[in-house]
Amino acid sequence: MASLYPPLNVLFLMSDVGGGHRAAARAIAGALRQLRGDQVNSIIVDLMADYLPWPLNGLPRTYSPLIRYAHPLHGLAWHLGCRPPVAKTLLELLDMVFSPGVRRCYTRYRPDAVISVHPMMVHAPLRVLREMGYTVPFMTVVTDLVSMFPTWFCPQVDACVVPTPAAAQAARHLGMPAERVKVLGQPIDLRFREYLHQFPLPDDRRAARAALGLRPDLPTILLVSGGEGMGPLAEVAQAIDAQRLATQLVIICGRNESLQQALRERSWTLPVRVEGFIENMAAWMAASDCIVTKAGPGTIAEAMAMGLPILLFSYILGQEEGNVAYVVENGLGAYTPEPTAAAALLGDWLSDGQERLLRMRRQCQRLARPNAALDIARTVLDLVSRRERVRIFRAAARSDDRGRDAAFWRNLGA
Ligand code: UDP
Repeated sequence: MASLYPPLNVLFLMSDVGGGHRAAARAIAGALRQLRGDQVNSIIVDLMADYLPWPLNGLPRTYSPLIRYAHPLHGLAWHLGCRPPVAKTLLELLDMVFSPGVRRCYTRYRPDAVISVHPMMVHAPLRVLREMGYTVPFMTVVTDLVSMFPTWFCPQVDACVVPTPAAAQAARHLGMPAERVKVLGQPIDLRFREYLHQFPLPDDRRAARAALGLRPDLPTILLVSGGEGMGPLAEVAQAIDAQRLATQLVIICGRNESLQQALRERSWTLPVRVEGFIENMAAWMAASDCIVTKAGPGTIAEAMAMGLPILLFSYILGQEEGNVAYVVENGLGAYTPEPTAAAALLGDWLSDGQERLLRMRRQCQRLARPNAALDIARTVLDLVSRRERVRIFRAAARSDDRGRDAAFWRNLGA
């Protein structure tokens, strides 16, 4: 039934640095759509690219080269930024830089709720929101699993959603009131749940492979390295190829176009499929037996949901350091940075009757939270409706049309 009131504007603040922030925002937006259809209007904004002045609006474009060519510098900056005096200065700087753009963004979209999925976009956007007189809920969704940058946490937010108990502990340690910290998991696209239902058994992978034009009969290794296709992806691919395993290899290069082209031009021993940025990761994961990846939190959470054992070959210094221990200590996979050793380990995994793969697969599914996006979306709606109840009650009281009143409450699900 069509709503009698304008849709709720839910504004997501993020930036396209890596693929994880947009993926998280999209996942929650998808869940809101599933729960409330067009009663919710999700707006995903790259605050850096679209609202910072030149040349600062070019910062997202510097992320990929920074990680590729000056990785230690990024790691150093991350660790320095965790020190309280530096974090404080950084917050002051971010406040100065972001405030005018955030103000324009709020004026344009008039949000009914704001969700930040980026650690640089919490304190200043919340301060500006309140300063502008908005009393709408502001929520943070932390998209790192273990290693926390302190600017993620601002005790004044209405809710702070974190993916793991370790992240919750960090949040409380940094002064977040315990009742506002919610451990709901990493938000992943609802399509992962759909693929899980469609292909629930290991044997179903044959059908998933056929649907992608892969050889249905061959075990499949999925090689990926975040949205930017960073790190020694080519070296790892070459080492796997050299092992001559009885498998096929899918290489996802993300937005790294030069790598994609180089890998397409190379000749391979194994059946190899090279893709650029794919929009349906769930389909590729459903077709695979294990994943070889850098330690990106989004990819790890997605692989866990799909029961895919995880072989990590690299991680981004700083924010992804804790993810390595998370995968290894929880029995979800292994970490082997040396390409030849990684390829040899894959050979072991795939050749011992797949017993080890099965154990890791079960462990992944035991710890996965494929419903996280829905749980987060419900939290958003709950926060909005708690505030909305007063406004709604007043609006309803002004109307003498009881039918409209009843429909409104029904639509709201209150
Ligand atoms: N991703 C995608 N298509 C690609 C490569 C990656 O949709 O071709 C998605 C992937 O499924 C995940 C996100 O991008 O949701 C990557 O997030 P992660 O946290 O793993 O790494 P980041 O790119 O943020 O460093």
